[in-house]
Amino acid sequence: MVKETKLQVEAIKDGTVIDHIPANIGFKVMKLFKLYNTCERVTIGLNLHSSVLNAKDIIKIENIFINEEQAKQLALYAPKATVNQIENYAVVAKLPLTLPSTINGVFYCPNTNCITHDEEAIESSFKVVLKSDDVYLKCRYCEKVFSREIMTERN
Ligand SMILES: [Zn+2]
Repeated sequence: MVKETKLQVEAIKDGTVIDHIPANIGFKVMKLFKLYNTCERVTIGLNLHSSVLNAKDIIKIENIFINEEQAKQLALYAPKATVNQIENYAVVAKLPLTLPSTINGVFYCPNTNCITHDEEAIESSFKVVLKSDDVYLKCRYCEKVFSREIMTERN
């Protein structure tokens, strides 16, 4: 029997810990929160052992706190992630992740025949659907449904 009492990633004093991110989604979360551009210390653990998921990613960000709007965006990528706010090495708040009902202007519609590709003025708009823990997006214009994994962000 192996006891797992060791922390897999070093603790932080103040900031945010995003845990239980599905493996390989960690980099997307880094991009989502523009963590490549921050001067704060960011610790990222990839493919860590998890009893809930087979493997998980974890991100610790010092001195940055995730707001509710960011938590909604995070929910699109990792609906089961946990977001803990850390102050003086203790968890002071757990941010609930709630999926937004719609998401506008973030993703391209994967359907190349969709009107949003022809008309630059039309902002993409998707209804968010959760089906057995997977996130799907339904285009408001062509009404096709796509899994979140195949969506590409507009830059
Ligand atoms: Zn569409």
